[in-house]
Amino acid sequence: MTMKMLAGGNWDEATYYGFLEELVEAGYLEGAALGITKRVIHEGRDSLTENQDYVFERYVLGEYVRDKCNVCHQTIPWCEKFQAIQSGLCAACLIR
Ligand SMILES: [Zn+2]
Repeated sequence: MTMKMLAGGNWDEATYYGFLEELVEAGYLEGAALGITKRVIHEGRDSLTENQDYVFERYVLGEYVRDKCNVCHQTIPWCEKFQAIQSGLCAACLIR
């Protein structure tokens, strides 16, 4: 997941931030990644310094964002990405 994809994709901004909030609330993040993610939620990714943006990309999005479902290979929407951290599946495949 790259910044370009986020900016140019047809992702739903509300569920994108909802996903980040779920990550924070579930205790996945700690240290710098936690602080940076809270900053993105409250002030937007544009507020990050270059180094912070790197940490966010690599240790938050890179670690926890599942782009495609492991079974059907469809893009997993933001509203399903939180449960996909563990399962790697979209909602439809998860209940199969
Ligand atoms: Zn699927």
